[in-house]
Amino acid sequence: MAHRKPSVPMAETPATRACPKCGHTNSTAAAKTVAVEFRPLLTEQVFAFPDALAEVSCLKCGGCGYWMCLDYRIELDDNPEIDLNPE
Ligand SMILES: [Zn+2]
Repeated sequence: MAHRKPSVPMAETPATRACPKCGHTNSTAAAKTVAVEFRPLLTEQVFAFPDALAEVSCLKCGGCGYWMCLDYRIELDDNPEIDLNPE
């Protein structure tokens, strides 16, 4: 059985969040969590990296519509199938 690290939990979100653009105070109750799949940029030195999934908690400002990132969490596969010797 493969050992798995526990997922890092999201930080606790404060009840309100001031917009960095217009200063409008927004309730974080309307925050949305979206899942984002991403793949790191590979270079000659870093030529293999597992795909990862990120959960991003974001909030749209009620004043100006600016999207704020409240928190995010990245999940990596502990046992990625990485081919270190591609043919
Ligand atoms: Zn704003």
